[in-house]
Amino acid sequence: MSSGVEPVLSVRNLTVHYGAARALGDVSLDVLPGEIVTIVGGNGAGKSTLLKTVSGVPELMKSVRGSVTVLGRRATRLSAHRIAGLGLAHVPEGRRVFPESTVAENLLLGAYRRRDRAAVAADLEAVFDRFPVLRERRRQAAGLLSGGEQQMLAIGRGLMSRPRVLLLDEPSLGLAPILVDEVFAIVEALRAEGTTILLVEQMAARALAIADRAYVLETGTVVAEGRAADLAADPQVRAAYLGAERR
Ligand code: ATP
Repeated sequence: MSSGVEPVLSVRNLTVHYGAARALGDVSLDVLPGEIVTIVGGNGAGKSTLLKTVSGVPELMKSVRGSVTVLGRRATRLSAHRIAGLGLAHVPEGRRVFPESTVAENLLLGAYRRRDRAAVAADLEAVFDRFPVLRERRRQAAGLLSGGEQQMLAIGRGLMSRPRVLLLDEPSLGLAPILVDEVFAIVEALRAEGTTILLVEQMAARALAIADRAYVLETGTVVAEGRAADLAADPQVRAAYLGAERR
């Protein structure tokens, strides 16, 4: 990059297919240390596919062309757990918590690669400090949590791997407005603490308001990129993505 700072995550010329259908075409992006970068785009634009490809979701791997680099290490077509080992955590759309397992068990699954037990225990406490409701419910089955609590759990589980870069897919999806506020506040707090974040959000205006930079995806292709504030002020972006959104 021209800034001379090495990206935490770098994607080059990524093309991905589901069978014969192209979901991503020649996508390139960078996420620099400490940034929030958001991907803006309509339904089916390829946002989730991008995050899944970066984090190594197996169903896509055979079709991937191009490259993904995490902290300078080549991650293209590595297995998801190897990519996690490079310092990347993915909080998928729809939370995907294990409903029969307890809250604490779900969180500890996020640390399954780690052998530093004392530090894991400390990080579990840190997640409970961040999300006190999870401490209260630590012995409950995760499936009994509300949608908002499950989102906190999914983010907490991602943090348990001590990621350098966190991928968040639609963290506000289906949440009541007050919880949406909470989720955005959490994302900002994480960035303030030094976590680098790649954020996919339907609430594009809110995502752009907290992001440093953004990329606009249409039918699998990057059609615009730049400073989030500039894109939020761009008439075309406003008309296409920000019109209907309140707040
Ligand atoms: P949304 O906001 O609706 O989740 P998105 O931008 O995340 O959309 P993707 O879910 O990445 O978009 O989908 C990109 C394209 O790939 C769409 O055309 C979608 O129909 C297709 N697609 C996604 N998942 C699959 C799958 N498992 N099998 C086949 N096609 C898929």
